[in-house]
Amino acid sequence: MDSMDHQTLYTCPMDPDVITHQPGTCLKCGMDLVPITDSNGNHNHSGHSSMEDDFKRRFFITLPLTIITMLLSSNIQRWFGFQLNFPDKKILLFLIGTIIFIIGGTPFFKSSKGEIKSKNPGMMTLVALSITVGYFFSVAATFLFPTESLYWEISTLISVFLLGHWIEMRAVRNATGALSELAKLIPPTAHLIENDSTIDVQTSQIRIGDRILVKPGEKIPVDGVIVDGSSFVNESMITGESKPVTKQKADKVIGGTLNQDGSLTIEVQKTGEYSTISQIIKIIQEAQSSKPNVQHLADKAASILTFVAIFAGIASFAYWFFVSPHGVIFAATLAVSAIVVACPHALGLAIPTVTTITSTLGAKNGILIKNMKGLEIARKINYVVFDKTGTLTKGIFVVQDIILSRNSNYSKDELLKLAAAVETNSQHSIAAGIVNEAKKKNLAIPKVLDFVSFPGKGAKGIVNNKLITVGNKKLFEEKKIEMGYFEGANTDNVSTPVYIAVDKQISGIILLSDEVRKEAKQTIHKLHDLGIKVAMLTGDIKTAAEKVGNSLDIDTIFSQVLPEDKMNKIKQLQNEGNIVAMVGDGVNDAPSLTQAHVGIAIGAGTDVAVESADIVLMKNNPLDVVKAISLSRKTNIKMTQNLIWATGYNFFAIPAAAGAFYQLFGILLRPEWSALLMSSSSIIVVLNALLLKKEKL
Ligand code: ADP
Ligand code: MG
Repeated sequence: MDSMDHQTLYTCPMDPDVITHQPGTCLKCGMDLVPITDSNGNHNHSGHSSMEDDFKRRFFITLPLTIITMLLSSNIQRWFGFQLNFPDKKILLFLIGTIIFIIGGTPFFKSSKGEIKSKNPGMMTLVALSITVGYFFSVAATFLFPTESLYWEISTLISVFLLGHWIEMRAVRNATGALSELAKLIPPTAHLIENDSTIDVQTSQIRIGDRILVKPGEKIPVDGVIVDGSSFVNESMITGESKPVTKQKADKVIGGTLNQDGSLTIEVQKTGEYSTISQIIKIIQEAQSSKPNVQHLADKAASILTFVAIFAGIASFAYWFFVSPHGVIFAATLAVSAIVVACPHALGLAIPTVTTITSTLGAKNGILIKNMKGLEIARKINYVVFDKTGTLTKGIFVVQDIILSRNSNYSKDELLKLAAAVETNSQHSIAAGIVNEAKKKNLAIPKVLDFVSFPGKGAKGIVNNKLITVGNKKLFEEKKIEMGYFEGANTDNVSTPVYIAVDKQISGIILLSDEVRKEAKQTIHKLHDLGIKVAMLTGDIKTAAEKVGNSLDIDTIFSQVLPEDKMNKIKQLQNEGNIVAMVGDGVNDAPSLTQAHVGIAIGAGTDVAVESADIVLMKNNPLDVVKAISLSRKTNIKMTQNLIWATGYNFFAIPAAAGAFYQLFGILLRPEWSALLMSSSSIIVVLNALLLKKEKL
């Protein structure tokens, strides 16, 4: 994966949601960005874990000092009924308090500087503000006024903040660690075949076209095609499919998957950033930095809360100092407490923690989320449109019959040969069916010249100096080729006919059919159970489309739709007020995938870079559409819960910290309790998101 060197990505140690291609400072908080891809292209979280270690270290330095400040505090001594007094106690408290303030406060000062620089004061600014107010108040109490200091309160506050951040970063790291697991799937070395012997080389040195040997029980190091051998391969880590798949000559294999029982010789097809795993990692990273719309709501709420916090601080000081005088100590303590408890930290974590887990949970189930906004809407879908070929059916066309026209100068095999010659150059699954049939019969397929493809209709080309046209009725009408004998001919009605003309003379038809996927019917029933309607979209003839559609209980069938019109059918459903998902194989469905509210590409297999989709299903299983919708619904529930918790707890906590319940119930939230409450609310948000990991889709 050497080519990922110059692809190093950077993230903010405070906010895993920030991902950029350049080093520098975080736009949100101004912290220095740290690399998340090391020189081997392995995703790591050294940034997060080093910050995590930093918080941990600072916590363990400040903890014993905090205990000393507590023991020296007159209040604590009075509460616990002991005496510990000596002449320079005040100065000692000042010194210890200052050390804690500097060592423990530094990470918060740094981040708050960034927040202020980017004109986005938030959580860190509030923390810094509260400990600074408390500290300078205490310094003044030590040297200027004869009043009690706040050293132990500030020290515990700092310790709790450090502890909270340390635990929270650990939780966030656990939530995001899946990417490095993916990169670890690639074995470090490979057996390169050179001059009939093998040598072991670094996987990163493998080049396209190299041949490598994979022994039984070994991981396949790169994407490639099998040139010799056969085996069962476990692809669950990529596709989520738990059953091992049989692989033989000419089949493709994916780097990172596990070869089980046979020996395979593989010709390398993709390396570095083009490999399937790199593509998946890239997609997950992009998805994790793509923000769902609720993020804007959360951001807005957070900035409002910041001002509420500052206001609450000022207001509670003013109240307890001027309106109901309880002394400057009491007023300052409550002001600090109110600012601390209102820190919108949980709010900042509420959404990103959920989306990171969602994307890794999805990937584990073979569902790659490319765009969080798409996933976010997926829960509201009420119409799912399936492309027929390759999505509801296997997309593996098999030739059923060849019918020659009465005046044909060719035998069935000769006609098949000519058709196969043209179709060799074509992408369509029908083309593959024709070519396979010719290969099965061991026919020598001639070369084609001047090949032209007509999407949704067919293709033409020059074979053995003759113009060969293959395609559907529409193409023949356009090319003004007489259907002659086949005009109005009733074929078996359910096969897909491909007409063949030699020099504009119709010579015969090839009838092909495609098998419905076994999960298709269950998928449609499950969608119906969710109250979702289902449509099928195909360029195939009406009879073949209806046979499939009716057998699957599909609500709406659009047949004989040209590729350029497929998008319009989606629009039509949207104009009727539906939230529409389009499920297609991504090859010729790009415009409709883009047009739909949610574009789902299915069966991407080894080619995951399906540009226009919001969601890519790695397996050829339509049931995963239901899973994706369920993932969307579950994600949304978590996001909502987190948002409600992160904002809601303030309705109780801010008034409590400001002393609103003091006179009535004697309830008082000291700053360190506020810090504990605030930190635990963040941790609850992270833990709640982590619960999503355990969900079954
Ligand atoms: P879909 O993807 O829904 O099956 P397409 O738009 O790709 O539909 O194709 C529609 C129809 O056009 C096919 O059913 C077939 O009749 C014809 N067609 C398209 N490409 C070819 C081809 N390469 N050879 C023969 N027929 C083709
Ligand atoms: Mg198609």
